[in-house]
Amino acid sequence: MSIFNKNKTDELNIINVDELPNAENVSSKDTVDSDGRNSEPDSEKKLLMEFKNVSKEYKRGDRVFYALKDANLKIYEGEMVVILGPSGAGKSTLLNLLGGMDRASGGEIIFDGQDITKYSDNQLTSYRASNVGVVFQFYNLIPTLTAYENVALMKNIEKDIMDPIEALTEVGLKDHMHQFPSQLSGGEQQRTSIARAIAKNPRLLLCDEPTGALDTDTGQDVLKLLQDMSREKKRTVVMVTHNSTFADIADTVIRVKDGTVKSITRNEVIKDAREVSW
Ligand code: ADP
Repeated sequence: MSIFNKNKTDELNIINVDELPNAENVSSKDTVDSDGRNSEPDSEKKLLMEFKNVSKEYKRGDRVFYALKDANLKIYEGEMVVILGPSGAGKSTLLNLLGGMDRASGGEIIFDGQDITKYSDNQLTSYRASNVGVVFQFYNLIPTLTAYENVALMKNIEKDIMDPIEALTEVGLKDHMHQFPSQLSGGEQQRTSIARAIAKNPRLLLCDEPTGALDTDTGQDVLKLLQDMSREKKRTVVMVTHNSTFADIADTVIRVKDGTVKSITRNEVIKDAREVSW
């Protein structure tokens, strides 16, 4: 059976961040819940990550401010997850905690059965090096290195990486591998950064507004690439965005606002990335 039910895509609604899931929204199934604990997938999927009452707090003067409060969520292997919310909602905080780039103030973050909040700094470094690939909005390539060299650089972080040519082939850039970032288009630079992120075969591919600096057509190509990575290569892709249109291409949509996980929905019908426009 085809993964994308194109006959049904016309029925899909564009979901606003402020909207809570409801029964009339035919694109998604209201399996939640304000806390995410009941958002189980239909099929037998392996749980990769779980947040249990995770908080991140900062001091503002005498007061405590929560960038994230009591977040509960689950991420299943091979899924594409979109974390959606307006600016300041807590999306980057969530992404940084998923990737072990920040530490929680409270709660448990379970990765493959282990609570990474208990990890020492060295353990957390290994967690990031072995398990996490990150794609940034502005690519973060080294300008004096070619596309190939930017990807090959990952060997300094993790010994057992893919052949950079293989990674660049997966993103359709084999023919551009000897070009420097300045000789690549924005979309090609983002593809290079995706190749770099996947080179170490991460269990978790985190993407922070990956299309934010791209025009719509190029952005669609990048979204399609990320969607295919989850659909065809079974990579777990988590994308943070403020663009509510992207909700339609995900398996699971986590909406955040004011530091709180407002809802988690699972799409029954998933749009092909090339069908969304913004
Ligand atoms: P988003 O990515 O959704 O725009 P963030 O996760 O970056 O939101 O931020 C959520 C809230 O936490 C914001 O109000 C932000 O100002 C605050 N915040 C984030 N990082 C820090 C920090 N290091 N110190 C103080 N406040 C922070």
